[in-house]
Amino acid sequence: MALVIMESGDKRKFQRSDLDIDVFSMNGGQFIGKAKNISREGMYLETEENVVRDAKILLRYKLPGTGLPIKAYSVVKWIRGNRFNNKLKHGVGIRFVSLNKSDLRKIDEFIKASSKKINSDNHSLADFAHISDKDLFRKAEVFWEYAEDMQQKGFINYRRPLVSSSKNRSQVIDEGTGKPRDMIMMGSNNYLGLTTHPRVIEVAKSVMEKYGVGAGSVPLLAGTYDLHRELELKLAELKGCEDAIVLSSGYITNLGFLQTMVKRGDIAIIDRYSHASIIDGCLISEGSFKTFKHSDIDSLRDVLQGAKDKYRGKIIIADGVYSMDGDIAPLAQIIEVAKEYGAKVMIDEAHATGVIGEMGRGTPSHFHLEGKVDIVMGTLSKALGGIGGFIASSRKVINYLRYYTRSFFYSTNIPPSTAASVIAAIEVMCSDTQLHKTLWENIRFMKENLKTMGFNIGDSGSAIIPIFIGDELTLKKMSKRFHEEGVYLNAIPYPAVSKGSERFRLSILATHTKEDLEQTLGVLEKVGKEFGVIRKIIPLQYLRNNKTIVQEVKSEKEIEESVRFSWRVYENSPAWVPYFLVKEQTRLISGEYFYFRKITNKRFIVRESGDIVGTISAFVDKYFNLLYNKRVGYLGFFEALPNREKAINLLINKAIEFLKRENCKEVWAPINGIFELIGGGTLSDGFEKEPSFLQVYNPSYYREYFVQSGFMPLKQTLHYTINLDSQEILERVNSLSKKSLIPELRIRKINKSDWGNEVRRILKVFNESFVHLWFGIPLEYQEFIEFANKFKRLIIPDFWLIAEINDEPVGFIGGFPNYVKIFRELNGNIKFTKFLKLTLLIHRIEGGSILLFGVVDKYRKTGVGPLLSSRLCRAMIEKGYSSTAAAWILEDNTDCRRVAEWLGGKVDRTWTIYGKNLND
Ligand code: PMP
Repeated sequence: MALVIMESGDKRKFQRSDLDIDVFSMNGGQFIGKAKNISREGMYLETEENVVRDAKILLRYKLPGTGLPIKAYSVVKWIRGNRFNNKLKHGVGIRFVSLNKSDLRKIDEFIKASSKKINSDNHSLADFAHISDKDLFRKAEVFWEYAEDMQQKGFINYRRPLVSSSKNRSQVIDEGTGKPRDMIMMGSNNYLGLTTHPRVIEVAKSVMEKYGVGAGSVPLLAGTYDLHRELELKLAELKGCEDAIVLSSGYITNLGFLQTMVKRGDIAIIDRYSHASIIDGCLISEGSFKTFKHSDIDSLRDVLQGAKDKYRGKIIIADGVYSMDGDIAPLAQIIEVAKEYGAKVMIDEAHATGVIGEMGRGTPSHFHLEGKVDIVMGTLSKALGGIGGFIASSRKVINYLRYYTRSFFYSTNIPPSTAASVIAAIEVMCSDTQLHKTLWENIRFMKENLKTMGFNIGDSGSAIIPIFIGDELTLKKMSKRFHEEGVYLNAIPYPAVSKGSERFRLSILATHTKEDLEQTLGVLEKVGKEFGVIRKIIPLQYLRNNKTIVQEVKSEKEIEESVRFSWRVYENSPAWVPYFLVKEQTRLISGEYFYFRKITNKRFIVRESGDIVGTISAFVDKYFNLLYNKRVGYLGFFEALPNREKAINLLINKAIEFLKRENCKEVWAPINGIFELIGGGTLSDGFEKEPSFLQVYNPSYYREYFVQSGFMPLKQTLHYTINLDSQEILERVNSLSKKSLIPELRIRKINKSDWGNEVRRILKVFNESFVHLWFGIPLEYQEFIEFANKFKRLIIPDFWLIAEINDEPVGFIGGFPNYVKIFRELNGNIKFTKFLKLTLLIHRIEGGSILLFGVVDKYRKTGVGPLLSSRLCRAMIEKGYSSTAAAWILEDNTDCRRVAEWLGGKVDRTWTIYGKNLND
């Protein structure tokens, strides 16, 4: 091929010359070298001559098949290689200064005749983006060749025209035959099928009849209708914000927002996988931008740290759901880091709206963080079935955007009929629970089957499922096959995604039927096998048999698998903290702890298509039943994925059957074997908040599972937060900790070097005081110390206080630094070596957590309790803590509650224990 147009080696890549033409000097007539490529402008010459830059030479050469030689007055523009050693070849760039017309024509003809067609297999779209030539449109010509080759090979599967509505199956024009054909639609963002919802269509039609088909003007002038205003308020409500602004598309919205808000001296800090419209918005804004590693909070923190003093205004931007991977941004952590650095937070809700969160309200709702995100951006064009983009935020920010966003006020408003159809779509979305249920059943069905088949589908948490292929040519070939097999699937090549992560992107719809999905799986399996993309092949027949099986787990390996399941349940829950090693939890559940040896215990899991979707343990504590003359069984260590009503119901019933066989007449849940030490209850509120140390955390839907299985609330436990920052509390604590109604009373720190005896003293008080609480049971030394030993290293003597009268223990209180952040970093791994890290990190802790507290009967209401708690609070204040939690307090433990409230504590979370009568 014979073109030298490109500037850099990379851009020249697909036009590398294979010319080899002798070139002579016109003056002396001697051989100069070989032309390796040539254009109308010049040639690349390989020579051993000692030429110098800017030297003028008259060249003669003959192009094959073009008659007489060409004469060209030329100049040496550049020299590359070993030019001082004239035995070695070096490269010389020659510019033609003067060529006569007939010679120019010869060059054109030669180039045309000799240019080989581009082989599209060796190129990607990126190769044609930067062709620089005098002829501005040359790039289009070169790209045409590439596109023609792609077309001929059947690799162009873009812009296939639909001749029906976009739904589970659509009529698509087959470019090969020019005829429409029925295809399974796996590429649309119409997640809830609202583009064709009868109510949405009806509303759009009637508005069109009333208002016509267009808005007629830009929004700031004559293009705003009552419906536009209504839509703005609807969107604001949907996203839990004060107001919203609507623009003509999602893309334009991101551009407009960034141009308006990020000015010189400001910085946008964006996730590396942010949508193109965010990147483009950053490029047109006056401000700077930097990227952080995808969903990597440490990387975000590094970038923020670097930007801290260099920039004024800062905004962190992430996609709620990433458009190419379908994974969800770690929003709670982003907000937390943003607060630390005084940055604003913006999320792009394009693929989250309609899909995640309560009734599809999006990412803030998914994480229970509504109203906590500064800028919520979204589109009307995907689940909402229309066209347009929006920003929801505070009233003042939206008002500012209306007057300063160029892409808003210089661009005509969306048609009023669209505004109306989107309002209707939001109403349908927020009321039709079946739509979400079906969408999520479909998503799960596809994800599980694709995983089991052995496709690499990444870590999606939404309706977008990537299938990674990792090489562009295979992607193109597979794309052709999917088209032939009647599945409309989007191929995503480089540069839309990084090299090596080329993929197909499945979009799952609520309108897909089981048959659509099974047929698609069949095609994916067939084509996946053809191209060796599937790693292990499991007969589809097995997969289709979407069986729900409840099993009792016995082996340690299975129990460990059930423990590891928690990590799956909480993969998108940043508030969750794993406290114990997997191995430790496995020991606990397997009954290796002393306590569990005296109770009967069984563990169950429920699987769907082979994967665990829920797990529960059932316990019968005969000792407890004897003590209280009861026949109660517990369910505990419960974990489950969302939207698995059927499976979880089966699981709970199976566990209950076991309890019935053990003669239980009632069941309490969740209680993790032993209430006083391991706790229980389901968290009923405050899901977005970080749980304080050792407190039960669970997703909001657990409650529903128990209620649906016939359980009723039985008991609540409370979590108080006590603010230690105020002068008032300091005074109270100081005045109280001095007072004592009993002169002999002595309060001292725990002595860890006399551990065994100290534990005995605490246990004595514990047993005497806890039996008065709701079904409290006395514990034996061996079972108590087993737990105490686990926490020995974490105990700071300042926070464990024993009250004694004449050397007799009469009360104790125990608290910890709020180790939550550290345990999250350890991720369930508290090996000895990690404790070193713990010591290093401890100074970062800013709060405490009071966990155990007891006063023997004789000294209740004598002021021992308040005294102990105010001493502990003072110790925490001295450590610089600004607050402490007082947790695990039973609703009817009035002594404890009184003390917590006297210290200014406020209940900010509750847990509920449920009960069910087994006689029904
Ligand atoms: N943001 C994201 C994350 C997107 O995926 C898209 C659409 N591909 C947009 C913004 C742009 O939205 P619209 O199609 O409404 O212009």
